Amino acid sequence: MAVIHNLGFPRIGAGRELKKALERYWAGEIGQEALLAVARQLRGQHWQRQRQAGIDLVPVGDFAYYDQMLTMTALLGAAPARFGFAGARSSLDQYFTMARGREDQPAMEMTKWFDTNYHYIVPEFTRLTDFSVNSDWLFDEVDEARTQGLAAKPVLIGPLTYLYLGKEKQTDFNRLELLPRLLPVYHEILAKLNGQGVQWVQMDEPALALDLPPEWRAALSEAYEQLADAGPKLLLATYFASVAEHAALLKALPVAGLHIDLVRAPEQLAIFAQDYPDDKVLSAGIIDGRNIWRSDLGRVFQAVLPAYEALGCRLWLAPSCSLLHVPIDVELETELDGEIKSWLAFAVQKLDELAIIDKGLRLGAEAIAAELRAQERVVEHRRSSPRIHKATVRTRLEQLSDEDFRRPSSFADRIAAQRARLKLPAFPTTTIGSFPQTEAIRKARAAYKRGQLSEEAYREKMREEIRLAVEKQEAVGLDVLVHGEAERNDMVEYFGEQLEGFAFTRHGWVQSYGSRCVKPPIIFGDVERPRPMTVEWIAYAQSLTPRPMKGMLTGPVTILQWSFVRDDQPRATTALQIALAIRDEVRDLERAGIAVIQIDEPAFREGLPLKRKNWDEYLDWAARAFRLCSSGVRDETQIHTHMCYAEFNDILPAIAALDADVITIETSRSDMELLEAFRAFRYPNDIGPGVYDIHSPRVPASGEMRDLLEKARAVVAPERLWVNPDCGLKTRAWPEVQRALENMVEAAKAMRERDKTTECRI
Ligand code: GLN
Ligand code: ZN
Repeated sequence: MAVIHNLGFPRIGAGRELKKALERYWAGEIGQEALLAVARQLRGQHWQRQRQAGIDLVPVGDFAYYDQMLTMTALLGAAPARFGFAGARSSLDQYFTMARGREDQPAMEMTKWFDTNYHYIVPEFTRLTDFSVNSDWLFDEVDEARTQGLAAKPVLIGPLTYLYLGKEKQTDFNRLELLPRLLPVYHEILAKLNGQGVQWVQMDEPALALDLPPEWRAALSEAYEQLADAGPKLLLATYFASVAEHAALLKALPVAGLHIDLVRAPEQLAIFAQDYPDDKVLSAGIIDGRNIWRSDLGRVFQAVLPAYEALGCRLWLAPSCSLLHVPIDVELETELDGEIKSWLAFAVQKLDELAIIDKGLRLGAEAIAAELRAQERVVEHRRSSPRIHKATVRTRLEQLSDEDFRRPSSFADRIAAQRARLKLPAFPTTTIGSFPQTEAIRKARAAYKRGQLSEEAYREKMREEIRLAVEKQEAVGLDVLVHGEAERNDMVEYFGEQLEGFAFTRHGWVQSYGSRCVKPPIIFGDVERPRPMTVEWIAYAQSLTPRPMKGMLTGPVTILQWSFVRDDQPRATTALQIALAIRDEVRDLERAGIAVIQIDEPAFREGLPLKRKNWDEYLDWAARAFRLCSSGVRDETQIHTHMCYAEFNDILPAIAALDADVITIETSRSDMELLEAFRAFRYPNDIGPGVYDIHSPRVPASGEMRDLLEKARAVVAPERLWVNPDCGLKTRAWPEVQRALENMVEAAKAMRERDKTTECRI
């Protein structure tokens, strides 16, 4: 029989118990004992659910109070020296300080975990970074699991991945140099686990799925040679992409097993199964840990059968990756449309699917015939459901021609027409879209959703917020105004709720970072826009002011990226369908007299595939999707886009290919460094480099912003420059927003004055 195991279980709890306990603990409302008790209870529940599903080996150490990488940092005693924690055992409060910062020290950096929406805390390394076994959490959790009579499989981030995902905080130093110092500590941890009676340890090495530089690849054997005799058997786990290029190296590694992701890269099975060493286990990741659809079990069964015949007991079955990235239990969705619900599998349903495959391998296909038939019906039903397939959408896509992806005139002609229409001063000022989502706004929305506030009363409340935002912007003296997005709960959900082809869950939470969870929409069918989504709000806002009001939309790549997407058609097709809907909205806004329209794409970069060789294909369709939204308008309608991150260098040509008239980007935190890349590349269109960091409550002085604008002016032609914050202001409070924007407008005015006097002198 095959062993079935799990790589990791969602930790936040079906009712977001961990989130709630964490936030209460941070607010001082509960003590540490209460927090620990909630965590212990969640771990216990999650293990039991996995055991009930028939999992032979349950993961331990997949739990984290904030993040699994930070938990490794605590275990390895690698707290950055700047916190001054040296010498002390890692405590929970130190751990939270690293994650959240304190008065005198900013938090450790956070970044996306591979191509997921989960964020990890980035380890900081210097030449002096030292390691030692520094916390007992993992060992205590192993005891905890064993007391409950479970076969525990501790999960560690492997040494290569741990180092690879960290950052050097010192020049002339390569973090790989730390490996010899790190390995003995891993050895000690493994030996200790061995002493606790642990048989198997899962070493996650997802870095192998990236384009790993040769010296890192070479270090792999060295690392695992050193850990081979520590005691427990090691299962080296890879996921998120193919590691086939390392197949020979991995097969020769002194580990007892390998896990490969057969959902993202099914072709790996044949490559690995061939001449597979007979002393190793092969763990096949056959159930999708990244998406929420029921599997086509018959197909999965047929695919693993030959491997089972070749490997027998040495074939293990698992989800493709940790289940951290999917919600816990679809059965909680009592309000979800029954048909759609029948198509979905969350974490516990995925484990059930695994058990069915295992049963089939053990007892033969006949034994699971009924299950396969039932699942087959679901899959077939989904394939043919009229709710998924809309001929109108298909036909529209087929009939698109190159013209639909291109604005009719060049940027030079367009910007001339836009300037003539908008009559903006030099260094025009604007903001990114949202204004503070105040308690009053959230309360009104909650009351409306509960049915305690009528639709008309709710809408009037939102109009009141728009009036307030317009008044304040006029008072501050901004040039291009926004309506403030009061009516939007979330920039993706807001559109998804109004589009056909989207479904929403009540409890489908997925951890994003720390205590933050998101509830991604589910795109299940062809996307269509039954009616305008934003026109009424934007037109109302425009009616309040003679200044241009910017229409505000979310772009197709971002909507795609922050949703669970269909697995029955390419992502590119879904993106184009969303783009058609946004295109219609753009044109309706134009028709309503809106002269400036922003299409936000903050997730454009995070959609990049893990391997560089796949980048071009993605960038090509992603840019086409954006252009499909933006190209249906006249020259004098100005299209803006916004992206809020600083790593542009490697994708600048693709950003330029979007051909937005104006792009606003994040630059203030990097002191305008990024603009150097825009200069070197000769970015052709207008740019609004963010002049202040909205992530901090600090109000920057006007002189500070002016200095940044001077820096920008040195690399970008002044007539190309816009003046704006880094990102939307929804998380800030009005008093600070007002003061910051006043200072920003003052900085823009100073720039205009300066240019006037220079002109006179010439
Ligand atoms: N228009 C959005 C806002 O201002 C953009 C948010 C984002 O970039 N993530 O909030
Ligand atoms: Zn942003």
